[in-house]
Amino acid sequence: MIIQIPQNSDFSIHNIPFGIFSSEDRNARVGIAIGDHVLDLVMVSKLGVFSFDITVLEQPTLNAFISLGKKITSKVRSDIQRWLQDDTSILAGKPELFIRQSEVLMHLPISIGDYTDFYSSIEHATNVGKMFRDPANALLPNWKHIPVGYHGRASSIIVSGEPIHRPKGQTLPNNADSPIYGPTQRLDFELEMAFVTGKKSVLGESIATNEAEDYIFGLVLFNDWSARDIQKWEYVPLGPFLGKNFASHISPWVVTLEALEPFRVKGPKQEPKVLPYLEVEGNKNYDIKLEVSLTPNNGEEQIICNSNYKYMYWNMVQQLAHQTVNGCNINVGDLYGSGTISGKDEDSYGSMLELCWMGTKPIQMNDGTTRVFIADGDTVTMRAHAEKNGIRMGFGEVSAKILPAK
Ligand code: MN
Repeated sequence: MIIQIPQNSDFSIHNIPFGIFSSEDRNARVGIAIGDHVLDLVMVSKLGVFSFDITVLEQPTLNAFISLGKKITSKVRSDIQRWLQDDTSILAGKPELFIRQSEVLMHLPISIGDYTDFYSSIEHATNVGKMFRDPANALLPNWKHIPVGYHGRASSIIVSGEPIHRPKGQTLPNNADSPIYGPTQRLDFELEMAFVTGKKSVLGESIATNEAEDYIFGLVLFNDWSARDIQKWEYVPLGPFLGKNFASHISPWVVTLEALEPFRVKGPKQEPKVLPYLEVEGNKNYDIKLEVSLTPNNGEEQIICNSNYKYMYWNMVQQLAHQTVNGCNINVGDLYGSGTISGKDEDSYGSMLELCWMGTKPIQMNDGTTRVFIADGDTVTMRAHAEKNGIRMGFGEVSAKILPAK
């Protein structure tokens, strides 16, 4: 191995995710995470090893690189994988190609054009339905027929690490006749994964489920921050708006679909049968362990949720087929959130709303305080990794601190 990779690193030789980094003496550019280091692809390209336009690697986003298509991006990934494992390869004896991750600044990896958020976890949709509507009929009649989603806002999607201020807005306090304006009292996270598209489609044409994977470049961790009180007051009749679009964080490294290949699993049985355009063949879910932790200001980190991406009722392929079934076109660099990923167990719920059941079951923190929603000074961190037959890889983390309202 050209570079030492710590045991249990998310960025093992099996991963090779792409991201955008800069350092004191390097402009924002494309890199690959490997162990505790970043491999500088611009410097690798200067060795004359690539046969595509290498200026795409000098861009401050991955869009131009992934626009080259999977034929090229997959080859870059597998070449790097091979060279890293060969002590006599072109990468040998060139320490300047690698920088410690602690010495780089990670940037938003994608210039995100359009953003859709789905609602594809049956456990999450059932929990929300029980809390807000009818415990006996928690799922709405469309839910098992349509991968329900909405069009969100791309401008406020930011990279892990950037703190945000508690958002303000309009809410209707309990038993009040008229709304008030002020900081949200019910700030929440949503544990999600999101996929990035790497190929555009044509307006008027649909993407079939058996073509969809060709359009999916890779995945990131996604924290879809939500202000539940603002959301509750505003969402009827047109759906989520300012309670959702003040900020969402993504992890900086885009893990390719190829890297996730060993972790494919069968999804939950879909009953009733879906319409033909949503039918899929083969395993379209992925066994990826997810966790959420909460760290109070100057306090100690505490895990509050353990979930898994394999629980998703609707998979990515169905989401993309549904997104385009009416002829809506997609572009390189679109982002598609999974929706909150909850499991069956009470500690696998992917939001504070569910974990604390609308404020009725507080979480006890180690510092003696309790939480039913997120407090000022809290840091929320999400991590994801997959492991099978000795192969381990992960997503790193998406982490952000909440500052008081401005
Ligand atoms: Mn969401």
